[in-house]
Amino acid sequence: MAYKKFQSNHLFTGKKLLDHTHVLITDEQGVIQDIVQEQEAGGDVQKLEGILSPGLFNCHCHLELSHMQERIPPGGGLTSFITAVMKTAPAPEADRETAMKNAEREMYDNGIVAVGDISNNTSSLQTKSKSPVYWHNFLEVTNLDDSRAEEKIACFLTMEAAFNETIPPPRQSAIVPHASYSVSPATFHLINEYTQGKTITIHNQESAGEDELFTNGTGPFLSFYKGIGRSALPIAVSGKSSLQTWLPYFTKGQTILLVHNTYTSEEDILYANDYAQRSGISLFYCLCPNANLYIENKLPPVDLLLKHQCNIVLGTDSYGSNRQLSMASEMSVLLQHFPFLSPAQVLQWTTSNSAAALQLQNEKGSFEKGKKPGVVLIADDFSASQRLV
Ligand SMILES: [Zn+2]
Repeated sequence: MAYKKFQSNHLFTGKKLLDHTHVLITDEQGVIQDIVQEQEAGGDVQKLEGILSPGLFNCHCHLELSHMQERIPPGGGLTSFITAVMKTAPAPEADRETAMKNAEREMYDNGIVAVGDISNNTSSLQTKSKSPVYWHNFLEVTNLDDSRAEEKIACFLTMEAAFNETIPPPRQSAIVPHASYSVSPATFHLINEYTQGKTITIHNQESAGEDELFTNGTGPFLSFYKGIGRSALPIAVSGKSSLQTWLPYFTKGQTILLVHNTYTSEEDILYANDYAQRSGISLFYCLCPNANLYIENKLPPVDLLLKHQCNIVLGTDSYGSNRQLSMASEMSVLLQHFPFLSPAQVLQWTTSNSAAALQLQNEKGSFEKGKKPGVVLIADDFSASQRLV
């Protein structure tokens, strides 16, 4: 059997960072054979510069919005961002298709092997059906009317069947709520019923207005609702934060990716971790630092998430709020802004932690014998990454 052998100044296994004396060996297909010391590796070793890592995960993307590049100016805050997404004139279908194909290729080339991707319709199906990347499709429900919940969910279940038929296995899809402020209670209950044991996701506490809305029934969401033709408040004020309002809807052993968490408080983290433990669900906090800086110019409380042993994963969000779809760039921003973080921590978030979040830990996320996780070379300063296998 022919082997591929890689050696570089750093080798990240998915859990820890090893030095330059180690050699990674895969078979021709990229199945991990071993990590050995250089004197045991024999000949034909490819010598490289940078960090060798298992394939990277992008746990939050919207492939459908790939044509939005440079369309929405940064810094406007969340409600004006959502309004801009809704009001931007639709690009011609051929342009949208090309933008999705280019985005898929960009992610493939820079070493992303799996994507947790939000879909609002079936327009990304064609690109995904031909893609070697693993797609975990989050079919995102937005519905503020309890009376329409059944009908909406029925539509999304039909869409889920289309995704499962068109995208070759292995793949997973699940219906998911968009956010606390865009999903009615009956819709939340139905999503809970249909997602037992699955990995799902929700946009969480991306703006301060989200908490203000649920706590007091005030803030920027009131004019947002007016703008979409809702003069009466379409949500019930709970007197609690957004997170403490929506999380109790989930009771069926789901793994939930909470995306953004820019305004999550320590009290919320304590509440969420306790709730998860009591009710048998798993939580992963998905950070999208470039998008957070783009929309709200604020970063999530990484120190608090670490203090309370939260599981962290990373995502790019879409071209609507990012200038590239690169996990190296997301890791780089975190390392620059949070000097207490180490490269090994952020690498673990975007490899083995993410594999656990998307329930792919038996196949990807680490260099363990028999897995086929992909092999990526990341520049030592995280300025770039490229797929090797
Ligand atoms: Zn998003």
